[in-house]
Amino acid sequence: MSVLWDDDSPHDECGVVGIVAPGRDISRLAFFALHALQHRGQESAGIAVADDGQVMVQRDLGLVGAVFDEPSLRSLSGHSAIGHVRYSTTGSNKWENAQPVTRNRGTGLVALGHNGNLTNTDALREQITNDPQPLQATTDSELIAALLAREPGSLLDAVVGVIGRLVGAFSAVALSEYELVAFRDAHGVRPLVIGKLEGGYCVASETCALDQIGATLVREVRPGEAVRLTATGLESRQALTPAISRMCVFEHIYFARPDSLLDGRNVWEQRRAMGIELAGEAPIDADMVVGLPDSGTPAAIGYAFASGIPYSEAVVRNRYVGRSFIQPDQELRKSGVKLKFNPLREIIDGKRLIVVDDSIVRGTTTQQVVAMLREAGAREVHMRISSPPITWPCFYGIDMPSRGELVAARHSIDEVARLTGATTLAHLSLEGLQRAIGAPADRFCRACFTGEYPIPVPDSSIKLRFEDAATQPAEAQRK
Ligand code: SF4
Repeated sequence: MSVLWDDDSPHDECGVVGIVAPGRDISRLAFFALHALQHRGQESAGIAVADDGQVMVQRDLGLVGAVFDEPSLRSLSGHSAIGHVRYSTTGSNKWENAQPVTRNRGTGLVALGHNGNLTNTDALREQITNDPQPLQATTDSELIAALLAREPGSLLDAVVGVIGRLVGAFSAVALSEYELVAFRDAHGVRPLVIGKLEGGYCVASETCALDQIGATLVREVRPGEAVRLTATGLESRQALTPAISRMCVFEHIYFARPDSLLDGRNVWEQRRAMGIELAGEAPIDADMVVGLPDSGTPAAIGYAFASGIPYSEAVVRNRYVGRSFIQPDQELRKSGVKLKFNPLREIIDGKRLIVVDDSIVRGTTTQQVVAMLREAGAREVHMRISSPPITWPCFYGIDMPSRGELVAARHSIDEVARLTGATTLAHLSLEGLQRAIGAPADRFCRACFTGEYPIPVPDSSIKLRFEDAATQPAEAQRK
């Protein structure tokens, strides 16, 4: 499978769900919950279902709707299910890496779905070198499943026994024949919420999945908590001493669906507030405020509201661009951003535009967008970005390029404006971002803006993602 067009955005790596509801159509519930999380991963999808005495799994490359059909959902019956959608970097999009992954455990199976990234995989691999079951995949998720498979006792006991050995970001669901356990790292970097639905309980990466299956939000899985879901309740164990919460701030900026709640607050409202802050910090005279759909739209609406400059749609997005087995030919590939966006010339021609987007990674998309808008007749293109410049890579489950490829790590804001062809460029400040989110800065991971990594990152990972040792952040070097 190839990338039709690399949209140069940071990519989340996964979404997870878990449902216990005996008597309900469990695989259908998991399917629709995953469908609501499709934005978190479009490369593979899978569901594991537990009936008393067995665990069945179906997983494959592709979108949720392509992996499952009526007959396959009907064949996956049971009392509990976990599900997973995955985004992966190019080169690791092979079937074996689709989740849930499974391992033999005693006389049965354990299945696992994981969102995040472990930073101590080398040490974990050493712990299973003599394991009679060879690793099939290249993911850290299979390592977690392998460790769980070796632990005695109930699945909840196994999770409690293993969780302290995992370093990094993880929000995960594990399933055996009789148990479903959700667990989260001590910093709570990736989201995971618990819901109540008719006949049982569920967990999901985002509240939009709960809404989809008619569940009501109970609470978040707490940082460092392992929680067993049953038809009638929750059994919680605080497996790790909860550290200071470090939710990924990019969930608020870009990853989470705008209709989700994060920490009880609506994401769309937070993004609109980012636009309001941005208008206060970086005002400019123009004819029209435009959002790059869909992620830039709420902040553009906020910018327009605060500035008094009219908001308009000026770009139509093809929502079906993504990964495909069909390679675009050379001419189509050259058109790059036009595979995703088509400008409304009649709206744009002769106008001075303020264009709001959520982030800049390599700068290639911004450059192509600015060129496209100018070709469509824009007189001025003022780029306004509703997050600070990204200057450090992510080690906690977000696919970002190495530091050397991050345009803001190598160039000043004025230089990036020149490189991208923008008339002016401005970013929201960290302080403005925190005001918009409405929660204290020390409750978030903001490492891709600050280089202050809250969870240890091993030297081997750092070397891969940094151009030279001199540019390593102090915090990462220390750990
Ligand atoms: S480094 Fe950035 S993208 Fe990664 S978890 Fe932290 S805030 Fe999120």
